[in-house]
This record gives sequence, C-alpha cells and structure tokens, in this order.
Amino acid sequence: MTTIRTRYAPSPTGYMHVGGVRTALFAFLLARQNNNGRFILRLEDTDQKREVEGSAEHLIKSLNALGISYDEGPDIGGDFAPYKQSERLDIYKNWAQKLIDAGRAYADPYTGDEIQAFRDQARAAKQPFLYRNHRPENPPVWNGTTPLRFKSDPKTYAWYDEVMGRLTTGPEVIDDFILIKTDGFPTYNFAHIVDDAEMKITHIIRGQEFISSQPNYLNLYEALNLDHPIFATVPHIMADAGNKKLGKRDGAKDVLEYIKDGYLPETLINFIASMGWNDGTEQEIFSMDELIAKFSLDRVQRSGARFDEKRLLWMNGQWIRKLSLDDLYERVANFWPEAAESASLDYKKQVLAMVQDRLKVLSELPLLSSYFFEEPTPDWTMISNNKQLSKLSNDEILSFLDSAQNALLNCDHNPEAVQSTLNELLETTGQKPGILFSLIRLAVSWAPFSPALNETIAVLGKDKVQARLKLAIEIANNPTK
Ligand code: GLU
Repeated sequence: MTTIRTRYAPSPTGYMHVGGVRTALFAFLLARQNNNGRFILRLEDTDQKREVEGSAEHLIKSLNALGISYDEGPDIGGDFAPYKQSERLDIYKNWAQKLIDAGRAYADPYTGDEIQAFRDQARAAKQPFLYRNHRPENPPVWNGTTPLRFKSDPKTYAWYDEVMGRLTTGPEVIDDFILIKTDGFPTYNFAHIVDDAEMKITHIIRGQEFISSQPNYLNLYEALNLDHPIFATVPHIMADAGNKKLGKRDGAKDVLEYIKDGYLPETLINFIASMGWNDGTEQEIFSMDELIAKFSLDRVQRSGARFDEKRLLWMNGQWIRKLSLDDLYERVANFWPEAAESASLDYKKQVLAMVQDRLKVLSELPLLSSYFFEEPTPDWTMISNNKQLSKLSNDEILSFLDSAQNALLNCDHNPEAVQSTLNELLETTGQKPGILFSLIRLAVSWAPFSPALNETIAVLGKDKVQARLKLAIEIANNPTK
C-alpha cells in the first residue's frame, strides 16, 4: 500500500491567514488519519519580488502554535531535502533539460513588446490569445537569458477532483506556459510538479485559484511521464456579508493575531476545519483528535464557505468552558488586568472560576474582572439609565443600599451565607431580585455584567463590599451625582 504523503506549500509572501491554515489543516488531517501518513512543509519561494522578509519564520510559528506538526520541512529536514524551492534550482534545471531533450520546451525569443503586439492582434481578431499560436520555428538554444517555455500538446481532459468531482476541459485552455524565468527561478507551475513528484506526494490539497490551470498541469505531467497525485480543491472562504472572497478587511487576520487576542488554538482549529467541512451530523465542536478520526475530503463542500466571526467567538467561549481551571489559569497568564499583579494565586483562581463561563476571548479578562483587583470608578448613569432602577426614587435607592450595607456587615462572606442574607433582604425590602440585586451588583462592581451576586460579594470580601456600598451611599446623597 502506498503511504499517504500530503504537503502544505506556502509562498513566504506574508502572514498566515485562515485560508492558508485550512489548506494546511486538511492536508495534515489526511496524513494523520493514515498509519505512516506524512505531512510535509515546503516553502515555495520562487517569486523573489513577492517575498516578505520574516514570513517563513512566521508561517512556521503559526503552524506550531496551532499544533499542525509536520514530519519533513525546511527547518527539520527529511528524506527529500531541501524543502525550500530556492535551494532546489539545479533539480528544476535537470527536469527542464529532460523536456528540452524531448522537444517539449523551447527558449522564448520574444520581447515584452512583441508579445503585447500578439495580444493586440488576437483582441482585434476577437480571438483568445494563446502563446502556442506564436511558437518560433527555429528557437534559439536556451541559455538562460530568455524564459524557457513548455511546448504543450493541446487536448481534451477529464479528471476527478476529490472535492469538485468530475471535471472536463477542451483543448482551448491548454497553452505554452513559462517553466523557468530569466532570473533562473522556476515558475510555480513547473516547480510544484517537479517537487510533488520528487517528494512522492500522493494528494495535492490547495485553493480554488489553481483549478483553472489544472489542465495545463495535466499536460505537463504527461510530458514528464509522471502519474499525477490525487487532487482536492478547496473552495474560497467568503466574507461574512456579500458575495466576495474573504480579504484582510473582512477579518482575515493573521492567525497569530487571533491567538494574541485570546482565541484558543483549539477554537481556531475547530472553526477553520468547519469552514467548508462537516461530518454530516449536528456536531459543531471537534477536537483535533476527533477531526483526525472524522475528516474526509468527500465531505468538503464545493461552494464557498463563510467566515462567521460571531460563530468564532461563540466557539471560543465553548472551548474556554471546557478547560480545567488550572489549564485556563495557565492560558490567561498574559491577560490579567495590571492591578492583578499583586493578587495571590488563590484569589486569582477564585476570580477566574467565576468568570470562566462568561469569557469569550481571553483578552476580555480585564473587562470582566478588574473590579476584583482595584476600586471601580462609580458611574451613576449605569443606575439612572437602567430601565428598572431608574424607576426607584433616590430615597428608595438610599434605603436599599443602607439595608444591604447593614445586613452584609454581620454576615460571613461565603457564598451560602451571603445568599441567605440577600434572600432576607428581598423579604425585608419587598423588592424583586431583578431590582434589588441589580442595584447591589452595580454598587459593588460598577461593571456591565458580573457573575452570581453572592459569589461576587463573597470573593470581594467584607472590607471591599462595605467600602463600596458606603461610597455608593455617599454618591446617592450627593444631589449633583
Ligand atoms: N505556493 C502556492 C501558494 O502559496 C501553493 C499552492 C499549492 O499548494 O500547490 O499559493
């Protein structure tokens, strides 16, 4: 049986966005679900003009952060090293020579202006422009000062794509494309075919932008006497609104940015896998192990998948809730509000346990927890703009805060004792929890939301609760609030 070998072959031209991660992830899953499957990272750095300094390191960092591990690659080597195309130029030259010897490649003698004139001619005649209509009769011997072009053999093709199904094209799409440029570097069109063959790649998983070139690739495989790998074309990721491909402005951020913002790697893997793939059930939360067990190319959808940022947020909340408190504690290490620096580990864990259910991104931790570590700034408009609380008179507010202060003064600050004190307060004031508890909640936190009131009070402790209620009473007494 052949070993499954898949690859992720990015060009180091920028950061790693969700589309790139999805291609890498699908290829990784396919390799991992097969015994002895191998997943390879190959850097396609043949377009020197587009190369962005540092992006290769960035890609590697992103894959590591997400747990998409590769078995062979530029930084770890492997049986088919080097894994960086700029270090494989001799290999492409050798393969190019085979094509020259077989009469299937020629030196392109034309200048840019001459090619433009051919294009103009074709347009004037309302014909599609094809290089192969202008093949030179006696091309010069190729010496590297001109591009080397493939001499194609136009014909009809029918092939099977694991995602897109059966596809067919006519001879009109086959043309002579460049194999090696004048800078000595191969084109993607040539290099990836050579490398996939040399590296014994069994499955090519890549984005939709390459599908129109597929018949030309088939033509080149034939010229090189190569069996082609299995193809799987994944559809574009579409922006949430409208009908366009996801771009930077629609939130196609660098994946490391998402991690910096407090998205968990588990979430990103789950979310990205589910853009265009599902297992046919209602299940939405998948761990990496489940994805390895369940992923299959034939369940990748053909139409564009939507990038739904709200769903990403929801999913992150789900994953945060699944973490043990100790695990979560480690992951939020860099997200605490500054004021938490001097707090004890125990206290921080208590706070974290309370907000875990509400956290959707780790970076929200300060918003949800700062009042546990520093005195909040009272904002009376939170009371006066509150639908329920605005109905209370100032005297009522004062009296409720006063009763709360007195009742809590003589109560142990543990969640049970605080809860029974609060229940008694409901009885003595004759108020509904929605009113009384909201008022007390604001007076002790001045936060738009907080965990259960009894727990909040218990964790804050008597000193802080008393001081904050006292301050709220002072403000209520001040007519200029
Ligand atoms: N180097 C190509 C890119 O970055 C890879 C395409 C492929 O996977 O073959 O888009």
